[in-house]
This record gives sequence, structure tokens and C-alpha cells, in this order.
Amino acid sequence: MRIVDFRSDTLTVPTEEMREAMYEARVGDDVYGEDPTVKELEEMAAAKAGKESALFVTSGTMGNQLALLSHTKRGEEVILEENSHIYNAEVGGAAFLSGLQPRPIKGNRGIMDLEDIKRAIRPEDIHFPRTGLICIENTHNMAGGVVIPVYQMEKVYSLAREHNIPVHLDGARIFNAAIHIGCDVKELTQYCDSVMFCLSKGLCAPVGSILAGDKSFVDKAKRYRKMIGGGMRQAGVIAAPGIIALEKMVDRLEEDHKKAFGLAAGLSGIGGLTLDKERVDTNIVMVDVRNTGCKAHELTDVFREKGILAVAINERMIRFVTHKYISEEDVQYAVDTIRGVLS
Ligand SMILES: *Cc1c(COP(=O)(O)O)cnc(C)c1O
Repeated sequence: MRIVDFRSDTLTVPTEEMREAMYEARVGDDVYGEDPTVKELEEMAAAKAGKESALFVTSGTMGNQLALLSHTKRGEEVILEENSHIYNAEVGGAAFLSGLQPRPIKGNRGIMDLEDIKRAIRPEDIHFPRTGLICIENTHNMAGGVVIPVYQMEKVYSLAREHNIPVHLDGARIFNAAIHIGCDVKELTQYCDSVMFCLSKGLCAPVGSILAGDKSFVDKAKRYRKMIGGGMRQAGVIAAPGIIALEKMVDRLEEDHKKAFGLAAGLSGIGGLTLDKERVDTNIVMVDVRNTGCKAHELTDVFREKGILAVAINERMIRFVTHKYISEEDVQYAVDTIRGVLS
């Protein structure tokens, strides 16, 4: 049976070229700072993000958690969006590891209103926690791959600066955002103090993410990385495909966006499915299935029997993610199959 797997862009496997680079990678002990391939990746990543320094970490979650640890003190508050990954999908790490109190704000399609952020920033008072950090997620995963525009990033950053609060950007898919806008990624990352981005999603590396910021921040994060067991030895073998991810896989994200738009256009013509195809910015398509009379997970079970894999994120929404290993024909096949199931 033909399988088309839309569950996530994390399902991408390393390319042939990445496999060869892994085999040939020069390595050393990275805890001693002696792995040349890790160093090369970190320098390249810092330059791409327009930051002084960068750290190779095992996952996006580790990168975000190290950012929380490094920017804040225990008992402080972190402002973040209600449906953000850091708040919902990192096992409560903000509380467990950093001792932070989350201050979630309900966004509009993942975008927090500036006035809401303003109101959430704590004034000095003996009763109040201090606001230690503001997090932004771009692209916003659960909002459906929504791109946070440059002007919004800028507004949040200047507000944060007025109050001396650092800003961390969960940019797991920041290159998707830059490709959608048609700008250099630095235009977005200039409006944050630190940024995490994933090499292992649409960029196809097998493992790893980057945390970038100024040198003192990254030095601090590096100590915490060691503390939580993320100091890696001959990590050059997994950094090598990361270099190819940054050099050769960024521009191709455009194709993923085209496929997502094609998928959205196809699905929006099917009775019972509700989605706004104009609102598909990047490689994620969220479909509301309420009007089919079925629950999302019931439908994903039926789709799976037909070889179409997608994720039910709650009772009424199904998430489809496009990536390198889904072709335009796969998208057409999926649309036809789903139409068949629902008619
Ligand atoms: C995937 C993702 C992460 C976490 O990355 P992992 O490598 O899976 O830990 C963080 N934030 C967002 C927005 C993501 O989509």
C-alpha cells in the first residue's frame, strides 16, 4: 500500500549526501571543545542567525529549556503564547528545570497582542513575581505554521527592551518563516536575544538543534547543557549533516510550502472539511473536521487504513505537515483518497 506520511517534518531522513558527510566527518571530543565539525556547524549557525555564538544541542526542546535556564532566575515569570510548544509540549520543563511560573497569553493565530504583553509584564511590587523572559514562536506550530511578521517581532522586542526583559525565539521552523516572507533569517532573529532552530525538521538532518545568542549567554547555556547530560563527545558525526542542512536544505523549504498550499486547496474542496487555504503560510495545514460529524482521531484512523498518516491534535483538528519526502503526486493522491473516504 502507498503510504503518505504527513504526521511531521521530523520524519524526514538524512539525504545520501548527509550520510556520506557523517561517514567522513572529522571528529574530536566536543566536551573538550575539540570536535572540528561541531565547531564548524556552530560557527556557521551563529553567522546565519546573526548572533555572536551558537551551541549544538540534541533537540529543540533542549535548546528551549537551556534558553529558559540561562535567561531567568527561579520564581520568575515567563510570558508565552497559550498554544506554544514551550508551554504545552516540553513536559513542564519551565517549572521543573527552571522553577518558572508560566504566564500564558491567548494569541490570535499564535500572535500575542502587544497590549496583552504590556499588561502581563509585572510592575515592581513586593508581592509580584518578576517577569524574567518573553518567548515568541515563529513559525507558530499549533496555529498552523503561522509566520509572525517582522514588524510584530520588532514591536515585542522593543517593548521587552524598555523593560529590560530578554526575548527568546522558539524558531524551530524559523527558516520556513524567512522563506515565506522572502527575507534573510537575520531580519527576524535581530529582534530576539536568543533563538533556537531545528536542523532535524524540514532541513532533514537526523538529529539536533541550534541555540544561538551572545557569547556570555551561550557560555552559560553550555554549562547547563553539560549539567543535564547534553555534553556530547565525538558529535561531529551528527553535526556534519547539520552543516549540509544549513547549506543546502534551506532554499528547498519553498517546495514544502507549495505542497502544503496544494494540499490545502485540494482539501478545502471536500465537503465537511473546513480550512482557510489563504491562511496556509508554510508547511503546516490544519483542518477542522467538525462538520463531518466524526471526531478527528476517528478520521485519522480511517485515513491510516488507506495509507494517509496525519495527526489528530484535538477532537476537531487534524494537522498535516509537508516535507521533502512527500511529492506533489503524493499530495494529489492524499486529496483523492480523503475525498473518497468522506463521500
Ligand atoms: C518541534 C518543535 C520544538 C521541539 O523540537 P524537538 O527537537 O522535537 O525537541 C520546539 N518548538 C517548536 C515550535 C517545535 O515545532
